[in-house]
Amino acid sequence: MTAIDGKVVAITGASSGIGEATARLLAGRGAAVVLGARRTQRLDELARDIRDRGGQALTCATDVTRRADLDRLVGRAVAEFGRLDVLVGNAGIAKIGPVADLDVDGWSSMIDVNLRGVLNGIAAALPVFRRQGHGHLVTTVSTSGLKIVPTQAIYAATKNAVRTLLEGLRQESTDGVLRTTAISPGVVRTELVDSIDDVQVREQIRRDMNAFAIDPEAVARVIAFAIEQPHDVEIGEVVIRPTVQG
Ligand code: NDP
Repeated sequence: MTAIDGKVVAITGASSGIGEATARLLAGRGAAVVLGARRTQRLDELARDIRDRGGQALTCATDVTRRADLDRLVGRAVAEFGRLDVLVGNAGIAKIGPVADLDVDGWSSMIDVNLRGVLNGIAAALPVFRRQGHGHLVTTVSTSGLKIVPTQAIYAATKNAVRTLLEGLRQESTDGVLRTTAISPGVVRTELVDSIDDVQVREQIRRDMNAFAIDPEAVARVIAFAIEQPHDVEIGEVVIRPTVQG
């Protein structure tokens, strides 16, 4: 038995990278996981693999930019497992590049996925958490919001908007029902680099990833650490980065 055993956890962006690693780790420690993303084939393969190892996993096609999809994801957890203990709002994209390139569509996509996606998750999960009397909201923000660097201004802005949002929500939720956790990873070896359209920036990030990125399992362990604390203990913010990252 672990403190994660029996918890019901919904994860957005579960089809690869940090979300997938988190699903595997939590399911391995006894959580029932509900996996959301758009690439349903990847989700189905992951769920099958988790079940083959004796875990509990369900999938739910989820585009976080759509409010109704988040309602369905949360509803699926409640319908199948009776409640939702944790929502990991992890889906994200990085359409990074210089602001002067005026990639307005890329900016909008990042706002829609990275910020509105988290808001849609909150709108779906908060009423359930309040009804249950407990709930935990975990999000994946970024060190790019802590050390602001060229080409990442809008991406960092979406991540810092979420950081601000969670702190505000925390201040409004001191009755003990809700825990909030914002995790800021540095460079992590995932498919995120593929969502970068600017070729030069993409290749630079790919070089960094190849040179010193940490594995997504490291972030998953932090998420597990936040979840496994007793309910009166809230891990508010964690920064996790490669030891050599500047
Ligand atoms: P991946 O690209 O491997 O994973 C991103 C996940 O987000 C995928 O599962 C993808 O699934 C999902 N996603 C993207 N758009 C949507 C959407 N509209 N609706 C639902 N799901 C969506 O990258 P990471 O694992 O690295 O990214 C996870 C989070 O970590 C992101 O929020 C990212 O910003 C953050 N992060 C990553 C860092 C890194 O260095 N890798 C550093 C700091 C933060 P699908 O395409 O199937 O929908």
